Amino acid sequence: MSITGSCLCGSVTFEYTGDVGAAAYCHCTDCRKTTGSAFNISIGLPSEGFSLTNGAPKEFTKTADSGQPITRHFCSDCGAPLYTSSSLNPAMIYVKAGALDDPTAVKPAYQSWTRSRVTWSKIDDDLPGFETDRTHG
Ligand SMILES: [Zn+2]
Ligand SMILES: [Zn+2]
Repeated sequence: MSITGSCLCGSVTFEYTGDVGAAAYCHCTDCRKTTGSAFNISIGLPSEGFSLTNGAPKEFTKTADSGQPITRHFCSDCGAPLYTSSSLNPAMIYVKAGALDDPTAVKPAYQSWTRSRVTWSKIDDDLPGFETDRTHG
């Protein structure tokens, strides 16, 4: 299977060829900060099948709650997070699910760091919903 993805502005694009494994939610504090949202969803992929097809993301490395150094790759033009890697396990990268061009390739299988989960990570079905934005829905 072959999948493609990009940042918000399109400066950085990537492709991956190989089996697309399960996606995972992460509720850790660093994922909350880096996404600016309640949690992160990423897909672990063997890095040998992954390649950048345009542009070069900026990198930021921080030791995570797990004790591992995690390098976060993001577009320096639009700021969109794209994938993470760790020097301790260079055979794998973790691509942000929302960066994929085809979101149907995302199949979440589990969630990690639930002890750091915020109460607003689950959308209450009773909240009013609008098909588009609130004023046009
Ligand atoms: Zn961009
Ligand atoms: Zn995390």
